[in-house]
Amino acid sequence: MYDPLVDNVPPSDQHQPDSFWVSEKSSDAYLPLVGEHKTDVVIIGAGYTGLSCALNLAQQFGVECTVVEANQPGWGCSGRNGGFVLPGTGRLSVQQMRQRWGKSVSQSIYAEYLNSIDTVNQLVDEGIDCERVAGGYLKLAHKPSLVSALHNQAKELAADYGDSILSLSADDIATKYLSGTRAYSGIYYPNAFGINPWLLCQGIAKKAADAGVTICGNSAVIDCQRVDKQHVLRTKSASITANTLVVATNGYGQRNLYKGLKDRTFPVISSIIVTQPLTPQQLLDVGMAAGLMFMDTRPLKYYYRILADNRLLFGGRGAIEGKKANNAKYQKALKDGLLATFPNLYDVKISAFWSGWVSVSLDDYPRVYHDPQNKILYSSGYCGAGLAFSIQAGKRLAQLHCAPEQLPDLPFWKSPLKQFPFALARRPALKTFYAWEAFKRKVGM
Ligand SMILES: Cc1cc2nc3c(=O)[nH]c(=O)nc-3n(C[C@H](O)[C@H](O)[C@H](O)COP(=O)(O)OP(=O)(O)OC[C@H]3O[C@@H](n4cnc5c(N)ncnc54)[C@H](O)[C@@H]3O)c2cc1C
Repeated sequence: MYDPLVDNVPPSDQHQPDSFWVSEKSSDAYLPLVGEHKTDVVIIGAGYTGLSCALNLAQQFGVECTVVEANQPGWGCSGRNGGFVLPGTGRLSVQQMRQRWGKSVSQSIYAEYLNSIDTVNQLVDEGIDCERVAGGYLKLAHKPSLVSALHNQAKELAADYGDSILSLSADDIATKYLSGTRAYSGIYYPNAFGINPWLLCQGIAKKAADAGVTICGNSAVIDCQRVDKQHVLRTKSASITANTLVVATNGYGQRNLYKGLKDRTFPVISSIIVTQPLTPQQLLDVGMAAGLMFMDTRPLKYYYRILADNRLLFGGRGAIEGKKANNAKYQKALKDGLLATFPNLYDVKISAFWSGWVSVSLDDYPRVYHDPQNKILYSSGYCGAGLAFSIQAGKRLAQLHCAPEQLPDLPFWKSPLKQFPFALARRPALKTFYAWEAFKRKVGM
């Protein structure tokens, strides 16, 4: 698999992402950029961030823009994720946000999370058919010592953050939500819902194209320079000059494409397996309420949901390097996790396995950033929780460019992403962390 820390340029001949969600493997809706072009705003990357930014620039502000994508829209995370539309991003709990910024700011951040869910709902209501399934999301305590922290979090969210979160006991969970695995307690987010992420991405791309955005597929940007106050980008078959540049490459961005983002995120692999459709007995054994999605509280989380045709989707950590991502060992590790969670599925068959690059920020929250002097914007660092938030971030990027006075006062757009101090040590450190977490799991810590 392509590796952003190793490869200088992503492949541009892979068309659609290698994920279960893709329904039209051969359709190449967006043609490559050929020859010399000019545009007002050029956006690198046609995932949710880039496409949502383009859609909002064109639709709300009448800005002429061009999206340049290495493959087809959704080839990155946006066509590979688990489809959990959740209120949140980054890795900070509300308690950690409150400690960092105070209660009022953290309430405004949480309001932005709820806005991001509304933004996705609105896109779906406007006609994007992406198999939306209502049902909510349950965060499960994987050990007794986490029960009270989780209940306090639910209490605080319900009392001070305007979200109707429910606290659930182990008995509530086993009788009403999930009987096939053990949880010590949980909290239930009723506003969360599931979707087919690739279809959502195709829908946003089509909406953007209908609003006048030019989307170029199979056009990896190999060079990006600032020349005479313009941005000049080159692909294999074209060049494009623009007044403003938006970098929307997130975990798929190369280290040296744009130096303002060099080593400011850490691309980490997340992987998913999907089983064959479960039999009626296996569904009973799993005992999941319809439409619900789950995640546990481990630092290396497992997340799972049942899809419309009764397959179980199960995700978690993947390899460290791109060249090892498709190794059978990582598929087996996820299946072992699935069996440890649902022992009754011992004879279940796996029908799909794939991986993608999420982008981790040094201080656990993303930035939606504008450098007005150099006319560059970016949004990145969602730490693996960016489905809803990246779509909201695209909207905010468009406002940062055209109407910054419309933005709420939030930390996301107040500073650039921080640079990792020992960038070359990121992978060795991750290896050590994974080994430690594997040990803890083995001894039941
Ligand atoms: C396995 C997995 C499961 C996940 N599950 C969830 C989930 O359930 N819920 C959730 O909230 N989040 C989830 N995420 C995270 C979520 O998918 C991402 O945060 C989100 O899709 C980020 O969108 P994006 O547009 O910023 O980046 P991406 O969708 O990754 O798009 C970046 C694009 O940039 C393009 N690009 C890179 N370099 C170049 C170049 N040089 N030239 C041209 N194009 C370039 C890439 O081809 C890519 O298409 C998951 C991620 C993974 C990998």
